[in-house]
Amino acid sequence: RRLKILVCGGGNGAHCMAGVAGSHAEIDVKILSLFEDEAERWSNILKSNFLTVYEPLVNGGHMEISTKPKLVTNDPEKAVEGVDIVFMVVPAFAHSQYITAIAPFIKPNTLIVGMPGQAGFEFQCINILGQKSSQLAIASFESLPWACRVDDFGKHVQLIGFKDVLGMSVVTGKDCKIPFPIVDTIQDIFGKKPAINLVQNYIAINLMAKSIIHPPLMYGHWSNWDGKPVRKKPLFYQGVDPKQANLLSKVSDECILTAKKIEKLRNDLKMKDVIHIFDWYKTYYHDEITDDSSLMMAMKTNAAYDGLLHPMKNVEGGFVPDFNYRYTREDIPYGLVVMKGIAELAGVPTPTMDEIITWAQNKLGKEYLVNGRLTGKDLKEARAPQSFGFKTLDELFNI
Ligand code: NAD
Repeated sequence: RRLKILVCGGGNGAHCMAGVAGSHAEIDVKILSLFEDEAERWSNILKSNFLTVYEPLVNGGHMEISTKPKLVTNDPEKAVEGVDIVFMVVPAFAHSQYITAIAPFIKPNTLIVGMPGQAGFEFQCINILGQKSSQLAIASFESLPWACRVDDFGKHVQLIGFKDVLGMSVVTGKDCKIPFPIVDTIQDIFGKKPAINLVQNYIAINLMAKSIIHPPLMYGHWSNWDGKPVRKKPLFYQGVDPKQANLLSKVSDECILTAKKIEKLRNDLKMKDVIHIFDWYKTYYHDEITDDSSLMMAMKTNAAYDGLLHPMKNVEGGFVPDFNYRYTREDIPYGLVVMKGIAELAGVPTPTMDEIITWAQNKLGKEYLVNGRLTGKDLKEARAPQSFGFKTLDELFNI
């Protein structure tokens, strides 16, 4: 039987996923975009064009895959009809819109994959899907399998780099039976890289979400900024300095402390995959990094990060940082705030996360954290366990 998949989204990752999956003759790919007129535009483009994934190779050559998705639509009913797997490939702030749209139409024994789920994905899915979630499975990847950028909407996406390995967790509802092997099927779609590492529980994946990377770099770079426009957009990863690397390292330490404490409190849980960000770079980007002598150098010499810049807005006299870009808008409420929430339930202090959240929430005009506790007025908009009424650690393992 043919595998039918739905890709939700219309950005970089969605283009790449649609192209990579579509390269398999036995897979049907549909795309759902709810953003503005994206579905209509993409659909029209595909009438006379293919979708091409362009992959530069290290030896200077390149690979190309050209495919035609079966359907691009903004109609959630048509999109989800007959589908075996739904891949959510949108920034986390768009998840609730997509889950809400497909919820009435999704059939039992469908797999929903957050790609990446980003922290709090499972809490949000279950909250929106309600009773239906017991008949579904929810998988979550710790990051996107690729670094990729659309260079011509609907037609052309650059696959800049692969991760070597990528963690995924699966929560299967008690009345759900997925009729295919989950890991093998997704691995077949991806191809050789990244190799999927099945992680034992979803809280580990939440603590591994790569949303920890951007906020410490933003905070480290801009917290003492004088507010004056700068002449050039700074390099984001290649520009990492010791202060930024140290902040990131400390946030990662706080995630590990939380994981270790959870393992101590609940000895049925394995949290060994929650590793330090430096070890993660060395393992997951092994082939892309040329100097792994320190976290800072590993980031600066990671080929998958070549040329990526700080998110900036054009103003008179130069550029100013865009604090509404997903590096803060996504990675605070659907990232650090969630990890902080899990740490709070585990009774682990997180001074570095607190410092960064306090700065970033101010830039976002939001309030999640008050005096080191997640009691802010905007907490409901975030995805911490506390945003959905979880009060104890044990409750997280009875979803
Ligand atoms: P993107 O920025 O390309 O996503 C843009 C798309 O999201 C739009 O085309 C639209 O379909 C949707 N969207 C944007 N604003 C919306 C809104 N207000 N309402 C509804 N939909 C909206 O994102 P991406 O680069 O594909 O990344 C997807 C996820 O993967 C994110 O969580 C990102 O952090 C993560 N990620 C991306 C990369 C990468 O290289 N692109 C690498 C690692 C992780």
